[in-house]
Amino acid sequence: METVRRKSLLYRSGLGFWCLNHVQGCAHGCRYPCYASLMARRYGRAKDDAEWRRPRLVEDAVDLLERELSRKRGRLDVVHLCLTTDPFMVGYPEVTASSLALVERLNAHGVRASVLTKGILPLELADARLDRRNVLGISLVSLDEGFRKRFEPGAAPYSERIAALERLHAAGCRTLVHIEPYPTPNIVKQDIRPLLDTVSFVDELYFGGWNYSPLAGAYADRDAFYREQGRIVRAFCRERHIRGTVDA
Ligand code: SF4
Repeated sequence: METVRRKSLLYRSGLGFWCLNHVQGCAHGCRYPCYASLMARRYGRAKDDAEWRRPRLVEDAVDLLERELSRKRGRLDVVHLCLTTDPFMVGYPEVTASSLALVERLNAHGVRASVLTKGILPLELADARLDRRNVLGISLVSLDEGFRKRFEPGAAPYSERIAALERLHAAGCRTLVHIEPYPTPNIVKQDIRPLLDTVSFVDELYFGGWNYSPLAGAYADRDAFYREQGRIVRAFCRERHIRGTVDA
């Protein structure tokens, strides 16, 4: 796998939380479009889609993190993996190995990890050496594989993502489902309820609308649609005692 050099890994995102991205690019090639890919092309880190989909691993990421954690001792509570790539990228075991090593380093310094993927969460995340307060999440906006192949062509099939999350839940880990960007009916016709039922075991749920694309904006009843989906999601979370956030 190709590599890239970085001077630092940890940064506070514009969303207010700490995160790290130990890979440049992402083989999943999402077409919502992917905001990280748009930014990479705007700032010259990838010249086109093909280059974005050829991921490069940050060299010595664990050593880099170790040095930064020592300098920031006691100032971090939780670090998110990742905002501009996927920590468990399909087809790249080197990325998975690096992500596991980084989570282990964070936890060794008393820092929790939150991870989010469209790949397969490995069972090693339930290892007894790791912090049980880590939040392990998958992105999931549909159960329709036709939709997945169109918009998340390189990502893991939905059933495999869900099965991996459920295994970690059964092993006692804290799990999250991130339902964003949820598509409007002009993109795919679907009922959100079967999707919610499939992940009813999770501890946390985030629901958000579809941005960065004129597609969802073109749906005349967009606001009413998201109001209704939000109502369904809130009721579901209340019934199942799931910590839910609706942002749509
Ligand atoms: S998985 Fe995330 S980072 Fe990778 S292409 Fe999709 S949206 Fe972008």
